[in-house]
Amino acid sequence: MILIHYGEIGTKGKNRAVFENCLIRNISKALGECAKKIRREYGRIIVFEENGKEEIKRKLEKIPGIENFSFARETKLDIEDIKRRALEVAKGKKFTTFKISTKRGNKDFPYSSMQVNEIVGEEIRKKLRKKVDLENAELTIFIEIGSKNAYIYTEKCEGIGGLPVGVEGKVISLLSGGIDSPVASWLMMKRGCNVIFVHFYNEKLVAKPNKAEEIVKKLNESQLESIAYYIPFADLQYEIIKEVPAKYRMIVYRRFMAKIANEIASIEKAKAIVTGDSLGQVASQTLENLLCIYDASSLPVLSPLIGFDKKEIIEMAKKIGTYEISIKPYEDCCSFMVAKHPATKANVEEIREMESRIKIDLDKIIKKADRKEYKL
Ligand code: ATP
Ligand code: MG
Repeated sequence: MILIHYGEIGTKGKNRAVFENCLIRNISKALGECAKKIRREYGRIIVFEENGKEEIKRKLEKIPGIENFSFARETKLDIEDIKRRALEVAKGKKFTTFKISTKRGNKDFPYSSMQVNEIVGEEIRKKLRKKVDLENAELTIFIEIGSKNAYIYTEKCEGIGGLPVGVEGKVISLLSGGIDSPVASWLMMKRGCNVIFVHFYNEKLVAKPNKAEEIVKKLNESQLESIAYYIPFADLQYEIIKEVPAKYRMIVYRRFMAKIANEIASIEKAKAIVTGDSLGQVASQTLENLLCIYDASSLPVLSPLIGFDKKEIIEMAKKIGTYEISIKPYEDCCSFMVAKHPATKANVEEIREMESRIKIDLDKIIKKADRKEYKL
């Protein structure tokens, strides 16, 4: 069986059960047929596996809310049974030095953690002729004393931590084909948000927004169920090019994205807009220009990458698995919107005035959107 530990949700007081149930639902969605039974026990979730250890590992490693997990053996709450099982586990391993690390969650168990360490350690030392080394053990045998059973394992697989997707409600993420916005979306999932993706593309240049869709599918491995809007945007782009001086185009363009995202938020009942902005990374991301862009949104705009360097963002993108997709060539719908000398200090009043010259029906744009649902 698999023993799953979660971190932060353990500290949520009364909401704890809500958080735990959400994580259980997500785990069961992700594992599907691989899981026979899922059980909750104080501070941990236990999954009885059907088959496919590697596949299970790959899936659990992507689920927000899991701190770490281990493939474990279950024993009775009985020191003799624990000794016997620990010995079996040790017999299957190659090592010369070892230690036992016991955690006693259940204080009714008659032996302290230290005593369990000593008793089980002694058993393995004598029967297998191995040496105890508390500082540099080659093998650590973990023993957890739970409320109904004890669990024995030798390896902890790292999860991504954070909160289970769903506990914080919905957000609308502006997803481009670039490196940053997929990472921003993923960070919001990791904080428990259900992320709805909105991607704009110029349908005259890009037949189908395949790249954005590929990113959505990748991110769905963590989210498990996703909704994405793909919005053809050529008319609006041409309108902006006609009405707005080159150096302000990007700002006006992004204000329209924010406005449409707000409309979609009201349809989907989302509570915030997410972008991949990182302060100062490009001209549209100076403080002045972000002010001009975010001004178009009535919902709060969250930019989880605001304080990260490009290098750090790329590292995250590689870990998440979106980097390889993001760097594929793509006729980015806004590459021709980028001016040679973009404004770095736009003024909100002026920008609003320029924007007012653009006559376009946002509802019509939203009606043209392709809304797609994804399941794992
Ligand atoms: P990214 O790597 O996420 O594309 P970037 O550094 O290239 O970011 P910009 O192109 O200025 O920066 O975009 C800033 C943010 O605006 C993006 O992170 C994204 O949230 C949003 N955005 C840009 N282009 C689009 C698009 N075509 N569709 C939806 N959102 C977009
Ligand atoms: Mg971009």
